[in-house]
Amino acid sequence: MFLKLNEIGDKIAIAASGGKDSTVLAHIMKLLNERYLNRKIFFHWLLQRYDYGLDLFLLSIDEGISGYRDDSLETVKRNQLEYQLPLKILSYKDLYDWSMDDIVKEIGRKNNCTFCGVFRRQALDRGAVMLGVDQIVTGHNADDIAETVLMNILRGDIARLQRCTFIKTKSEETIPRSKPFKYTYEKEIVMYAYFKKLDYFSTECIYSPNAYRGHARVFLKDLEAIRPSTILDIIHSGEAFETSAESNPTNVTVPGVCNRCGYMSSRDLCKACLLLEGLNRGLPKLGIGNTEKLRKKHLDEKEKSIGEYSSSKRTPGNPFIQNFNDLKLGSDLKKPL
Ligand code: SF4
Repeated sequence: MFLKLNEIGDKIAIAASGGKDSTVLAHIMKLLNERYLNRKIFFHWLLQRYDYGLDLFLLSIDEGISGYRDDSLETVKRNQLEYQLPLKILSYKDLYDWSMDDIVKEIGRKNNCTFCGVFRRQALDRGAVMLGVDQIVTGHNADDIAETVLMNILRGDIARLQRCTFIKTKSEETIPRSKPFKYTYEKEIVMYAYFKKLDYFSTECIYSPNAYRGHARVFLKDLEAIRPSTILDIIHSGEAFETSAESNPTNVTVPGVCNRCGYMSSRDLCKACLLLEGLNRGLPKLGIGNTEKLRKKHLDEKEKSIGEYSSSKRTPGNPFIQNFNDLKLGSDLKKPL
């Protein structure tokens, strides 16, 4: 599985949260990388098939959630020493000038995961660009993917429904992402971590009780109690949703980049910049749900002026967000001791 997802010599960023999934992923990738690099010495004829030769990094995002992420990042730092991999940590506060604690104070505990998910996705891409990696691997397991399929069905989000079961996503504008644990049950990962005595952080996010995903998880567990194959069945159902762009006009997106930060976007403003715009202007609902009317109402005027400052590194609307084109290897990369 790992061999099919990577090319020999790839630079790979492992998205590390300190949780069980990313800890097991980092452990296995490090193990296989070293094991099959050594095989090269003894079995030259196997080189094509078995050599990994990967350049591995840990990439962590600090969302700024007191009592949760600060503790889990300590686990990541311990694992960095244990696995001897370079670590880069990017924080929402540094990138966006808003931590999740600040955002929850502003918007309350509804929709906070929308902000967190959009910002994390972009933060990971920013970190990957800084590290100059070829690919990001994440620890999403089969349970996570089945939950996402359910959520996309419940929201009627056909475009995401098609994409969410891809084991590797790739577009010209973003760094490829892969989910090597797509078919691995959460319980298998927990058992592996337990028997290997891995150091991982197991506390739930303090803002998760209100997350929509939680309802999908409970529903999935109920289904699994009746039919044990439910999780893989749902993933296979998701894979079978092959809807063409012609039959789904909502699925037609024109690739492009955000005028403000240079991130991949089919609109003038990417979702992260739109959410930031709302936060900075005291209109946090600006980027939530069906944004078309609000976008039009509040951004028409602003978008006229975007062209004037889109070439600058730091934009007036979002003074902390740096253009993607200006990112480079950060000097704060923690090297293994
Ligand atoms: Fe972020 Fe929500 Fe996950 Fe907490 S539960 S880390 S707020 S996405």
